[in-house]
Amino acid sequence: TADDLLERQRLRESSARSYPRRLPIALVSATGSTVRDRQGREYIDCLAGAGALALGHHHPVVVQALHDVLDEGAPLSTLDLPTPVRDRFVEQLFAVLPEPLRDGRILFCGPTGADAVEAAVKLARTATGRSGLVAFGGAYHGMTQGTLALSGRKAVKEPLGTLLPDVHHLPFPTAFRSPFGLDDGAAMAGRLVEWALTDDLSGIATPAAVIAEPVQGEGGVQPMPAAFAATVRRATRAAGTVLIADEVQTGLGRTGDLWAGEAIGLDPDVLVLSKAIGGGLPLAVIVHRGELDGWQPGSHAGTFRGQTLALAAGAATIREVVRAGLAERAREAGRRLTEGLLAVAADDPRVGHVRGRGLMVGAELVDPGVVDADGVPVPDGWLAGRVQRAMLERGVIVEVGGSHDAVVRFLPPLVISDDELDRVVDAFGAALRAVHA
Ligand code: PMP
Repeated sequence: TADDLLERQRLRESSARSYPRRLPIALVSATGSTVRDRQGREYIDCLAGAGALALGHHHPVVVQALHDVLDEGAPLSTLDLPTPVRDRFVEQLFAVLPEPLRDGRILFCGPTGADAVEAAVKLARTATGRSGLVAFGGAYHGMTQGTLALSGRKAVKEPLGTLLPDVHHLPFPTAFRSPFGLDDGAAMAGRLVEWALTDDLSGIATPAAVIAEPVQGEGGVQPMPAAFAATVRRATRAAGTVLIADEVQTGLGRTGDLWAGEAIGLDPDVLVLSKAIGGGLPLAVIVHRGELDGWQPGSHAGTFRGQTLALAAGAATIREVVRAGLAERAREAGRRLTEGLLAVAADDPRVGHVRGRGLMVGAELVDPGVVDADGVPVPDGWLAGRVQRAMLERGVIVEVGGSHDAVVRFLPPLVISDDELDRVVDAFGAALRAVHA
């Protein structure tokens, strides 16, 4: 039974594993936006492989691409040696990249997003001969020692002692918990970036790189304001600092634009991609401006980079996202989801804020009875955990994130239907009412 699988996992696997603790289900099959457990119960999957499954589960174009690789007898693992499948992936990706990167270079650095962030940092340090890095509060770039150093979350770093040195964190402008409001808050955060990068009295040696997510995901779904993006771009250019956009979660249509950074003027020198570009299989790359390519051969290596099955699934996914206009669809679907959640919020003060871009949406749950120094109700992580569990009982899988894990996060496949979205909103409302009782 499913319970056996959970029990066997509990006995064998490390306690570091996270999802099964909060989602006590074992999955046996999946199609589209639906996953099924052993009892045949169905769930709408608003986690979607943490955003990796842009086309949902078992999309026919992905399944076909995988079959083709196996039927053709293509080599599954070739290190850096070229293959027709690898070539097709590169051509497919470059055809849709933001314009300034189309004559850039790609480095396969997978298989995980964190690996690609590590490579981006190494590239920036190598290219500039500097060591400093600027990251933002609330940032998430992975769980390796280097990427944890960039994390904007204290709790994950405190047990580990000294991580990568010479990392400086600056505030990321947020809409809800800003005493200055979004516009003034964004202007002020932008000034801090300019100050850190260019003012002698900042005391910060000019950094190698600034790294940012165009929409923070794990940090609680925080979209970067366009005015802030413009300032970050201007300040990094003026300082000769490499701008790294981490689009591991936002890339390939998720936010309603093919590339979330491009849409807000965050025109990066290095673009970090993973998740969706592998079509659900492990794949991660950086694409960067050609002039940064000062690597010595062998400076960055690794065994499992650019695996054939992932490249084939990825190329098919990129083609389908563009062919089916799924970025536009994500924008429309995100609007529907957001309006639904706002309707729930209108009747329930425990939904403090609903925000997002495209199909990257968060609802921050609060305790309306307790306010912080700015008069804003405090985040309620306990409630978010209860709502997550109650939604699961109602057939919907969601994740939580942000400060105190109080933000319920919706990250469904881009192909999710209106009917499924309405059921997600209904489950959210019903779960909140149930937790009231
Ligand atoms: N960057 C961002 C923005 C992410 O959302 C994630 C994963 N959630 C990562 C990096 C790390 O990717 P991975 O888990 O594949 O290492």
